[in-house]
Amino acid sequence: MISSRFAAIAQSQTRNSIAIEEKGRRSELFGINVFNESKMLQYLTKDALESLKSAMVSGSKIDRKIADQVAEAIKGWAITMGATHYTHWFQPLTGSTAEKHDAFFDLLPNGTALEKFGGGQLVQQEPDASSFPSGGIRNTFEARGYTAWDPSSPAFIYGTTLCIPTIFVSYTGEALDNKAPLLRALSAVDDAATAVAKYFDKNVSKVNATLGWEQEYFLIDKALAHSRPDIMMTGRTLVGETPAKGQQLDDHYFGVIPSRVLSFMSDLEKECTKLGIPVKTRHNEVAPNQFELAPVFEEANLAIDHNLLLMDVMDKIADKHHFMVLFHEKPFAGINGSGKHNNWSLATDTGVNLLSPGSTPMKNLQFLTFFINTIKAVDTYEELLRSSIASAGNDYRLGANEAPPAIFSIFVGTQLSSVLDELEGVSKGKLSPEEKTELKLNVVGKIPEILMDNTDRNRTSPFAFTGNKFEMRGVGAKTNCAKPMTILNTIVAKQLKDFKKEVDALIDKKSLKKDEAIFNVLREYIKTSKRIRFDGDGYSAEWESEAKRRKLSNNRNTPEALNVLTSKESLALFQSMKVMSDIEVRARQEVDLENYILHTQIEGRVYNELVYGYIMPAGIAYQNTLIKNVSGLKEIYGAAHKKFSEGQLTMIEEIAEHIVSIKKMVDAMADARKKANALKDTKKKAEAYCTNVKPYFSEIRLHSDKLEKLMDNQLWPLTKYRELLFIK
Ligand code: ADP
Ligand code: MG
Repeated sequence: MISSRFAAIAQSQTRNSIAIEEKGRRSELFGINVFNESKMLQYLTKDALESLKSAMVSGSKIDRKIADQVAEAIKGWAITMGATHYTHWFQPLTGSTAEKHDAFFDLLPNGTALEKFGGGQLVQQEPDASSFPSGGIRNTFEARGYTAWDPSSPAFIYGTTLCIPTIFVSYTGEALDNKAPLLRALSAVDDAATAVAKYFDKNVSKVNATLGWEQEYFLIDKALAHSRPDIMMTGRTLVGETPAKGQQLDDHYFGVIPSRVLSFMSDLEKECTKLGIPVKTRHNEVAPNQFELAPVFEEANLAIDHNLLLMDVMDKIADKHHFMVLFHEKPFAGINGSGKHNNWSLATDTGVNLLSPGSTPMKNLQFLTFFINTIKAVDTYEELLRSSIASAGNDYRLGANEAPPAIFSIFVGTQLSSVLDELEGVSKGKLSPEEKTELKLNVVGKIPEILMDNTDRNRTSPFAFTGNKFEMRGVGAKTNCAKPMTILNTIVAKQLKDFKKEVDALIDKKSLKKDEAIFNVLREYIKTSKRIRFDGDGYSAEWESEAKRRKLSNNRNTPEALNVLTSKESLALFQSMKVMSDIEVRARQEVDLENYILHTQIEGRVYNELVYGYIMPAGIAYQNTLIKNVSGLKEIYGAAHKKFSEGQLTMIEEIAEHIVSIKKMVDAMADARKKANALKDTKKKAEAYCTNVKPYFSEIRLHSDKLEKLMDNQLWPLTKYRELLFIK
């Protein structure tokens, strides 16, 4: 019988790229499936339009009458676009998105049919979502949650369904999703940043956090991916010998995109464009069969919805092109994993990027204010920020093959470092006119020129300043960006609030001028946040011990990293910034720990299946071949056979050793799982999985990979790395 591996290879050889029609300009396609401003103008009355716009900008409530009008308009548009169903689209704590479709179609009691979708259906819904993880919230309170419309992210049509972005909350008001805390964090950073931005420009009345994500992924032929039970069940390869050629030649990076992949990308981009996702760049990544897609940045809430939608669209389009897309953070050992860099900044409603220097000294002081406050926020809450990117998958990625380490630090580059060093020397209290002039001319005034050549990019820094934004690089490819963005915006909000208080106090009590007060506070921040600044190699052993000396956290695994979420300081932070209540934070920690347990448990079970169902039988089969061969030689040559069978005999023994070891490991791991499963406390259970179960994985893998190397290629049942990574 031909093994599924060879059948898959044969199938993968028959693929052709699907021709994608590139009709019309991208700009004409952009947003045609979105109920955006131009459709609002066309379909809404003036009242409804104004009310909806103010809800979008300020988060004000929409009354029921207006909601009915908006619903009527959206329905009218959706039906002309061919939509038959609608859904409240939300982000449960699983990390992806969920939807429950209802038809517009309804029957009146007299039997006539009509299309029904009113304000009630638009604004609020009760999905029967009791099986989504809630970390215990809904058990203690209400059994049900409801979804509520988020007017700041526009409705869109996907397939034949009108999707309405919503938050998901319990009846007692606790957030059951990732979006609700995000919206609260964005509102907190808006308040705090607007107040500070007013020091520099009274006309600022709103500050938006902006996010530009860069999505990395692997694209593997569908038949090949399906032939691997580990990829199917866990999204990554649990075993697999590194091929002779990996990424060392760097020949894939920015190389010519293979034609099948190019046609997938064109198709994907077309679909994204229609959905209003402003995709812009595409290229090969470092590892073979790894790629990246990045959009133009947007307001963070919308950017996050777009990233979640993108991942869904990618799955579907990949399937059409006979690919499987892997979002796992570390699908293959020994080569780069996939991340999702989060480029973040703050933008005013007057069109200014607060992390971009300007043409006047005052504008540069504004830049320095937001720049240094961000550094200070990350320094104070580095461990919390680390917790926001913790997941079972990302544990395999952080600190390996060009991914940033688990230790948070900030890269600012040599030129900006020297600006900070100079500012550290600013006098206490009032500044002399000479000092002010000197600062304006030679420190603050030189910033734009400095940034022009701030090109020394450090790829392993977890949090790097890249000219006019910060780039958070530890985020995992699969992660919902709402998690890191909620934490980042919360800590920056808190920091800016504290900053404003300190500056105002200096102005009021010490009668300092505004700019003097600002320089004074910034000087202290520069001094007290020095430990977080690091421009060197993110995963050298020296940095690890240096970071320890600086008392920076180094939480290498998810259970450890999640601890800080419920520290007294964290809970107080979330509460004071009105982002999450204690119950909500604890619930998230619980859900994240449970997710960790489940992922590790599934991997453990799949190892069992791989070892007993594939690896040992293959080893034994090959061993039998060798035994038969040795017996044959003995039959022919008698005692002299050893001269010819020496090699085979050692191989028989080597195979036997691997089989014995691998069986022991897999059985011991099953025992460790049983013990872990018996633990009631979620945190203890997660720790048990991390320290008692997971270490077996690499041991099992080691034996399996050695066996794979020894084996007759024809008898190895699992599709090899070489095939998964190099067949295009
Ligand atoms: P790379 O990091 O690959 O060199 P770029 O620096 O051009 O690429 O940009 C990376 C990402 O940063 C893009 O998704 C872009 O939209 C985003 N970006 C650029 N400016 C901002 C900003 N002000 N706020 C948030 N994201 C931004
Ligand atoms: Mg980048």
